[in-house]
Amino acid sequence: MLTKSQPDEIQDFLSDASYVKGGNATLVVFPESSNEIAEILKRAIHDQIPVTISGAGTGTVAGRVPFGGTVIATDRLNQIREVVHNDQGGGRAIAGAGVILRDLQRAVESEDLFYPPDPTERSCFLGGTVATNASGARTFKYGPTRRYVERLRIALATGDVIDLRRGECHADANGRIAIPLPSGRILEAQLPSYRMPEVRKHASGYYVAPQMDVIDLFIGSEGTLGVIVEVEVKLLSKPEGLLSGIVFFDSEERLLAFVREARERSLASRVSSPTINAELANRGSSPTVREGFISPSERLIGIDARALEYFDIESLRFLRQTYEMIPDLAVGAIFFEQETTPSTEDSLMNEWLSLLDEHKALSDSSWFATNETDQAKLREFRHALPVLMNEWFARHNQRKVSTDMAVPDDAFADMLRFYEDSLRGTGLRYTIFGHIGDNHVHVNILPRNDDEAGKAWEIYRKFIQRAVQLGGTISAEHGIGKLKREYLRELYGEEHLREMATLKHAFDPVGVLGRGNMFSEQFL
Ligand SMILES: Cc1cc2nc3c(=O)[nH]c(=O)nc-3n(C[C@H](O)[C@H](O)[C@H](O)COP(=O)(O)OP(=O)(O)OC[C@H]3O[C@@H](n4cnc5c(N)ncnc54)[C@H](O)[C@@H]3O)c2cc1C
Repeated sequence: MLTKSQPDEIQDFLSDASYVKGGNATLVVFPESSNEIAEILKRAIHDQIPVTISGAGTGTVAGRVPFGGTVIATDRLNQIREVVHNDQGGGRAIAGAGVILRDLQRAVESEDLFYPPDPTERSCFLGGTVATNASGARTFKYGPTRRYVERLRIALATGDVIDLRRGECHADANGRIAIPLPSGRILEAQLPSYRMPEVRKHASGYYVAPQMDVIDLFIGSEGTLGVIVEVEVKLLSKPEGLLSGIVFFDSEERLLAFVREARERSLASRVSSPTINAELANRGSSPTVREGFISPSERLIGIDARALEYFDIESLRFLRQTYEMIPDLAVGAIFFEQETTPSTEDSLMNEWLSLLDEHKALSDSSWFATNETDQAKLREFRHALPVLMNEWFARHNQRKVSTDMAVPDDAFADMLRFYEDSLRGTGLRYTIFGHIGDNHVHVNILPRNDDEAGKAWEIYRKFIQRAVQLGGTISAEHGIGKLKREYLRELYGEEHLREMATLKHAFDPVGVLGRGNMFSEQFL
């Protein structure tokens, strides 16, 4: 097995996209099988050496940043073992945890299949996306990674390797779980007793639900419960066509009204059409029914965005460095995507254009794409903002202050106003952008020096408190890692953090795995 220990060889494994400094390790190992991982873990348990699991390092909360011990790099678990079609449509893929998401997406798309999770930065590894339950723009229609995971092979810090298939192992009504291990022993544990916030996206702490499938506990467990070695995912049929646009507005009010309508019509399209519902159920996307909304049952095919993404005026200011053609009048923009077929493309384009006209978008200076080359350019625009900002943080030698909160539907307008009111007049530079369809926008505060960073973190804490008050989550997709664990206490309280630590203890009695992720080591 390849191992590396020279400082210049292991440098790349000591940081991630959080830019947290001080990461260190004595050894980075590159296993190629679950047996090799089990051996590494047995040795670590025996010598009580901390182990940090590394994916591609695109995580933004320092989850893979090690503070001592050994790093298990999953880079060599990079085989796509199988991509197969199901008789009833769609299919499944089996791949190692170290497969790059972009490679998996290309492989399945070449078979006319489709893997929806798409966390913007496609250089991440499949295992990393499962460990963080990654989401992204397409989550508005298709939900997060969790929805597609059918089986996981996991190396536990007990030295066991297990295969967990969805549907085979559930918690009981009292939140007890019992996992049969290959040794014949049963691993028993108690789930924490908190209720997760009722939001569209959530990646804060262990997933817990009544009589839940035990596989869900590992999805989003951020490297604290076991090493994900191999993943089997459900695939959908590849959409035939795509219509996308970046549309600009000269009034924020009109932009928000446009989003509300596009969103309600999208959700209504999914509940109003038996044909579409059957297709979505088949393709793994469950329609969301919103109370009190009467769906127009006559519209069988209509606006049904798969992505609705927001850019505020400050984000556009940032992007103008690279994209001079952003219209001067624009105070905000929306990126949308809608799947089409050859027979619906024209009518759907007309529906979007008339919705845009109704809300007085700057349609003439907006950008639309119906072919793959142009679509890639629009996605690049969407991706450019976090990349430009990450570079900015690195240049100013500052850590990013970036929110990841989501709130329930009826609280979003309040939350957005709170963000803007709290930042306006502070002199701080900031951007607000992201997954507005899921009530989940990222506020990035851009401190230029330590004083501004202090101010930014104070404001950040107010945002956390407000999101919790409104019934929201403190992290909708990036996870907690080492950066946000003190805020998990704001969400769940100390008692529940202890329950999480007790649960971890059942899987990792010596406490070697992912130390410091999700909750501080004092709880272990
Ligand atoms: C520009 C940019 C945009 C992004 N946009 C999004 C977005 O829209 N949505 C989103 O959800 N995320 C986004 N992210 C965050 C990031 O891409 C995701 O969190 C991704 O899932 C992390 O995968 P990774 O392989 O890089 O994991 P890493 O960063 O290497 O690790 C992340 C965590 O998972 C654990 N882990 C990794 N592999 C395993 C394994 N095999 N077994 C057990 N634990 C493991 C690590 O220990 C760590 O705690 C973005 C990041 C960047 C840089």
